[in-house]
Amino acid sequence: MKSPKDAVAIFDALDEQHPGADTELHFTNAFELLTATILSAQSTDQRVNMVTPALFKRYPDAAALARATPEELEPQIHSTGFFRAKSRSLIGMAQALMEQHHGQVPADMDALTALPGVGRKTANVVLGHALGVPGLPVDRHVLRVANRIGLAEGEDAVKVEAQLCAAVPAERWTRASDCLILHGRRVCKPKPLCNICLVQDACDYFRTGATTDARKQDAAGAQPRKTGATASDAGSATSRQRSAKGSAAGANRAKTAPDKPVAGASRRAGSSKPATPAKGAAGARLVRGSSSRKPRS
Ligand code: SF4
Repeated sequence: MKSPKDAVAIFDALDEQHPGADTELHFTNAFELLTATILSAQSTDQRVNMVTPALFKRYPDAAALARATPEELEPQIHSTGFFRAKSRSLIGMAQALMEQHHGQVPADMDALTALPGVGRKTANVVLGHALGVPGLPVDRHVLRVANRIGLAEGEDAVKVEAQLCAAVPAERWTRASDCLILHGRRVCKPKPLCNICLVQDACDYFRTGATTDARKQDAAGAQPRKTGATASDAGSATSRQRSAKGSAAGANRAKTAPDKPVAGASRRAGSSKPATPAKGAAGARLVRGSSSRKPRS
């Protein structure tokens, strides 16, 4: 586990690498974000964003959605998957808002998670992005990246959330989650692109040689290794990733978000030296500062 000072430095570097980190769901108020986040379970933000404009026009508030029937709602959200369960959740959520909260989305974790279809992750998304209450959503990307770097340990989303919240000030929680999610989508993928990563020098996964990224072998030439890396190390890490995917509670965020430019790297967390990516590596162009190039997802 990282010290608070190291954790802050790591999140500073992630901020630098992902300056535009934010939820990619489109919304104008807390009700819309709550609805969109419920719909995003096992779907993508892009797919949800295709559905919600017409949905929000037809059901602009909890009162309107509470009057909907599954028969009329299901066709409208069919393309997001699991439409029957999501229809029940959305109508139940809206009815609960009307009955218990005067149609308003409560700015309270316990009240939010008492709503149908709302887990802790969904509640944190809404609290942090629409209600001005610090929240740190933990999804499969956050679990994988935080464990790899050494910011957290374990596959329990609630425990990892607590560890991350303890590592950075509350005002940085939501942004920290957004950065970890984008890092997991664009850089620290299941097969990580360590060459373009700004936290490489502070990353436990990289330093122990657990990554299977072939380009890492080039970049790791001058890197210190704490232990001898073995094939079983990589295998264990991969196994942990698979387990972590299954343990993320509540609705998942997008799986295949469109890539946004990764910020040009000028430094890495834990190192005063500029990044020195391997020549010819796909990400090297990004590290040299070309923010217009997009890594393949
Ligand atoms: S160095 Fe590699 S494993 Fe570590 S956070 Fe960066 S991309 Fe992920």
